[in-house]
Amino acid sequence: MQPLIDISNLAIRFSADDNTRAAVKNISFSIQKSKITAIVGESGSGKSLTALSIMQLLPKEASTSGKIEYHDNHQTTNLLSLSSKEIRFFRGKKIAMIFQEPMTSLNPMMTIGSQVAEMFILHQQCNKKKAREATVKLFEEVELPEPAAIYDRYPHQISGGQKQRVMIAMAISCRPDLLIADEPTTALDIQVQESILRLLHSLKEKYGLAILLISHDLELVASIADQVLVMYQGELVEQGLPAQILHHPQHPYTKALWQCLPRAERKGQRLPVLSDFMDNAQQINHEEKMFEQKTIEADNQFPVLSVQSLVVEFA
Ligand code: ADP
Ligand code: MG
Repeated sequence: MQPLIDISNLAIRFSADDNTRAAVKNISFSIQKSKITAIVGESGSGKSLTALSIMQLLPKEASTSGKIEYHDNHQTTNLLSLSSKEIRFFRGKKIAMIFQEPMTSLNPMMTIGSQVAEMFILHQQCNKKKAREATVKLFEEVELPEPAAIYDRYPHQISGGQKQRVMIAMAISCRPDLLIADEPTTALDIQVQESILRLLHSLKEKYGLAILLISHDLELVASIADQVLVMYQGELVEQGLPAQILHHPQHPYTKALWQCLPRAERKGQRLPVLSDFMDNAQQINHEEKMFEQKTIEADNQFPVLSVQSLVVEFA
C-alpha cells in the first residue's frame, strides 16, 4: 500500500549569526495509512522539529531542505513547498496535532464542550444544537465520563488525562488522515498514560487513522506502535518493528537507551546513564558538566521569587 507521507532527506537548520547548524540531519522515513509510527529519542534529538515541519509550524528562524510528500487519491503534494495559505487546507482537516500540555491549547474561560463545538460550527457549518450533539458523541468516543454533563465543565474542573481526551476529540473532529501526537502522555501519571495510548490505538483501528507518536519512552510506545524510529542528535539512527528495536537493537545509542530504563531488580542502585554504555559519550558528558555549572551559578544568586507558607484548598 502506498504510504500516506514520504519524508525524504529532511534537514532542519537554525542560522544563528554566521553559524548554521543542523538540528535535523537528512532523515528519511514513511508514515503508513492506519498505522502508528513512533519516534523515540532523548530530549533535544529533533523529534518535535520533525513533527512541526510536517505542518509548517517550525519557528521562523528555521530553514528546511528535502521533501515531505503527502499522497492523497493519486495526487502527491510536497508539504514543504506549499504557501502559508495552501498549507492551511491540510492543517486540521487532513493533519491534526496534539501536544504534551493540553492546558496550553484550551481556553480556561470557556467550557470544554463549547470549545469542541466551535470546531463543528466553524468547519462544518453546524448550528449550535447539532454542534452540541456532535460534541457529546465525540466525548463518548474518546471515553470521557458522563459526556453530556462534562460538556459544561471548565478546563480546571477536569483532570489532566481528561483534558488530553478533550484535545484528542478536538483533533479528530474533522476526521483527519494523520494525527501527530507530540509526547501526549508525558505530563500524565503511568496508568493514565496507558489508557490514553489505548485510546489512540482504538481510534487508529476504528477510523483507519495514521498516527505519528512522539515519545522519549521506548518501552511505553512499543506496546502500540507498528513501526519505531529512533532519533539521536538529529539523525535517524534506527528503524524497525517495535519488538526488533526493543529486543535486538543495532545502534549503540538504542542499546544504551534500553540499558538505562529503570528496572525493579536494580532498585536502590544508581540509575545508569547513557554514558555508562556508550563509547562516544564525551559530548553527553560535556553537556552534563555545562548543566551542573549552570545549576551552581544559579544557586549563588538571590531568588527571583520566594514563596512562604502557601496553601491551596478546595472546598
Ligand atoms: P526534541 O523534541 O527531540 O526534544 P526538538 O526537536 O525540540 O527536540 O529540538 C531539537 C534541537 O533543535 C534542540 O536540541 C535545540 O537545540 C534545537 N532547537 C529547537 N528549537 C530551536 C530554536 N527555536 N532555535 C534554535 N535551536 C532550536
Ligand atoms: Mg519535543
